[in-house]
Amino acid sequence: MQIVKAIGKLAEDCRNAVGSVDLDAAGIAAPVLMDAATGSVNRAPNLPALDGFRFTEALEKEIGLRVLLENDANSAAIGEHWLGASREIANSICVTLGTGVGGGIILGGKPLRGPDGTAGELGHICVEPNGHPCPCGSWGCVEQYSSATAVVRIAREISERSQGSILSEKPLLTAFDIYEAALRSDPVAIESFRLTGYYLGIALAGLVNVLNPELVVISGGLASAWDMFIEHTRDQITKRAFREPALRVKLVRAKLGDDAGILGVARLAFLATQ
Ligand SMILES: [Zn+2]
Repeated sequence: MQIVKAIGKLAEDCRNAVGSVDLDAAGIAAPVLMDAATGSVNRAPNLPALDGFRFTEALEKEIGLRVLLENDANSAAIGEHWLGASREIANSICVTLGTGVGGGIILGGKPLRGPDGTAGELGHICVEPNGHPCPCGSWGCVEQYSSATAVVRIAREISERSQGSILSEKPLLTAFDIYEAALRSDPVAIESFRLTGYYLGIALAGLVNVLNPELVVISGGLASAWDMFIEHTRDQITKRAFREPALRVKLVRAKLGDDAGILGVARLAFLATQ
């Protein structure tokens, strides 16, 4: 399979870059639902050719090293728990607000995966029963309201039925445009981020009750716009969750940026070869 060859080439480049050191294992983070026990891909929504593929086995043959494969959002949660914002915190949730909404859950210091690899898929928690359709097959998933993609769609929808927004004049909108407009007090941009925070808060309030985490780490591109939505998220958690877990949980920004996933799978590879 071509993707295996491409990853093999990248691994070779990494190997050449570090020179003559002994390598025991490679860690790979991928946007797939996987069976951690066998290293097979259960489902790859963005790469359907990988569905059912024995990915780890193929990569091990290609690279000639033991391979640890992990879901990308779980990897980010493991990275933040090892060296980042949730370091030394036993129970935390890592939410990635990017193209979609990803999630990783650490309970008792360990990642929660589930037998089908879907544990932590918090982007598909329903926050609007008859809401926007989601590629996962459901409707109204928080991913459809609190991702960078969603904030653009929402801003577009609101600006089409209102007047006086600087966003109406832009043919191609990005989440960054909306953030800049919010800084200039544009009402459509402010309302779009309010909805982002509101829906994220609804999803997190349920998780705060169910998992009783000490920390929620917010990462991904949209975390840069944190100041525009986080109060609305916090407000929903306070209003909807039980008092004790709502008071306990802290919302913080991720520390490791795009490196979180890389460090997370490196951690898995270190642990596996110790
Ligand atoms: Zn969904």
